[in-house]
Order: sequence, then C-alpha cells, then structure tokens
Amino acid sequence: MKPIVNREACIGCGLCEGADDTVFKVIDGKSEVQYQDAEGNMIVFEDHRDTIEKAIRECPVTAISWEGSEEAEGASEEGLSADPTVEPMAGLDQEDMQEAA
Ligand code: SF4
Repeated sequence: MKPIVNREACIGCGLCEGADDTVFKVIDGKSEVQYQDAEGNMIVFEDHRDTIEKAIRECPVTAISWEGSEEAEGASEEGLSADPTVEPMAGLDQEDMQEAA
C-alpha cells in the first residue's frame, strides 16, 4: 500500500512534508510522494505508516489517501465528469415554464 496525493486538490501548504519529509516533498507548489530516500534507497511505506497517517489527518484539503482506499477511489471519480443525475436546463419545455411561473 502506498500514499497518493491528489495534485488537483493540493494547495502546497507543506504540512505533509512536515509530518514526513522522506515520503512527501512539496515541489513547484504541489506535494509529491517520493519513492526513494535521500540516499537512493527505496522507501518502505509501511515503515512510515504513522507519519503518513498523520499527514492524511492534517492535510487541510484531504488530498492524501492510501492507494485503493475508498477516499482515493472517490477522489478519482469526482474528477471525471459532471453529476449525471443533474438534468440539463435545455430539457425544459413550454409547459414546465408555465408550471414554474
Ligand atoms: S498537506 Fe495536503 S495540501 Fe498541504 S502540501 Fe500536503 S498534500 Fe498538499
């Protein structure tokens, strides 16, 4: 399991980097999940579970989640398209307009 950052939502506040500056780095105003530490070793995210959880809790825009979690799936679906349950305004006909008046 690994953490993922929703870059659309991230505001670059740096709280996640403050919680774990090995896993999270704010680059060009957006947090990025790192896969290697400063020495070039692969990061084992399980070893950072507590600090990653802290970052998830502290992120003010809930942009961080565990890959595969419900939050992550919801976040990716949200970005896809407009709500399909919303009727388009063009569907109104003359009768509807009279009822509304
Ligand atoms: S805490 Fe959230 S908003 Fe702040 S830099 Fe990290 S991912 Fe972005």
